[in-house]
Amino acid sequence: MINLVDLGRQFQHVKEEILLEIEKVIDSGNYILGSKVEELEKKIAEKLNVTEAVSVANGTDALVLTLEALGIGKGDEVITTPFTFFASAESISRIGATPVFADVNPHTFNLDPSDIEKRITSATKAIIPVHLFGQPADMDEINSLAKKYGLLVIEDACQAFGSTYKGKPVGSLGDAACFSFFPTKNLGTLGDGGIITTSNVKLAENLRKLRAHGTTKKYYHDRIGYNSRLDELHAAILLVNLNKIEEWNSKRREWAERYKKFLSGAAHIQLPMEEKDRKHIYHLFCIRSKQREQIMKALKAHDIQTGIYYPCCLHLQEVYKTLNYQEGDFPVAESLSNELFAIPMHPYLTESEQDYIISILLQDGGN
Ligand SMILES: *Cc1c(COP(=O)(O)O)cnc(C)c1O
Repeated sequence: MINLVDLGRQFQHVKEEILLEIEKVIDSGNYILGSKVEELEKKIAEKLNVTEAVSVANGTDALVLTLEALGIGKGDEVITTPFTFFASAESISRIGATPVFADVNPHTFNLDPSDIEKRITSATKAIIPVHLFGQPADMDEINSLAKKYGLLVIEDACQAFGSTYKGKPVGSLGDAACFSFFPTKNLGTLGDGGIITTSNVKLAENLRKLRAHGTTKKYYHDRIGYNSRLDELHAAILLVNLNKIEEWNSKRREWAERYKKFLSGAAHIQLPMEEKDRKHIYHLFCIRSKQREQIMKALKAHDIQTGIYYPCCLHLQEVYKTLNYQEGDFPVAESLSNELFAIPMHPYLTESEQDYIISILLQDGGN
């Protein structure tokens, strides 16, 4: 079986190093908010060209805590994409605000700035652009809308560690950015984890408080917070993986180039594109076809795994019926949910595996 991602294979390459680091953590006797967490936060802030990084328990909490720390809540609207993982909108609902959706660009799958502008009301407080599948959203246009209407911008960078926009790292492009270290993300750990990056010192201070029960000093609390911390063990593992991320992202980009080169003649599939001024890290490699079911079936018959990201747009989710959206409200996002699917993409794919996938795609599709 050729898997979409192969974490077992990937972790083999760092296993020895990780085991040594785990041993050090065990011996340190310090498992929560210790030196590894501090080191990871410092390194990530430096790497992403921001002054602050605050680690938390997962990417969803990164979004929830950021929204709350920025003072967003009941009665507020936050604009995001209907074509993303549920957590991008769930976090908005979780803090009592209302998610408002805008349609996406058919080529990049990211929020369409002109459609965002149509959805802005006096209740709008923030925009959450998602750098979907690893390609940065149109940040200049989104930031200028935010400036024009006095809105905050929170990057959902959960799929895009190491991507760049006009040479600047994702994570440094808005008021704050949220990352996930879920195992399948391009920078992941052996469990859950997340981090928020920002250059707003006051925000970082609030986030540090929120992640640990609203604590000012031990056993003194000045607000209701959360228990949402990144464990020392995960920080230690992530420090090892952080050293590999450039190499892993480059590998993803190489595989993406190869897919594009050899599949460019296949008329029945549309390949993902990369905007000229951005570095896409291909967290997922999603192709588009009107014959999706047929192609996925053919790949499955040859032991090649595929996946649909995402089969149901967020505005059409059962839980959001109360928001009163209809089918047809976001035609681009809806057509993507009917036609897009992911094929295997991870750093340790091999050339022969990729050649095999390509040969099946060229052979079985289109008829
Ligand atoms: C994975 C993901 C999240 C949530 O991250 P978790 O660590 O799983 O909570 C949020 N947004 C997007 C776009 C994601 O891909």
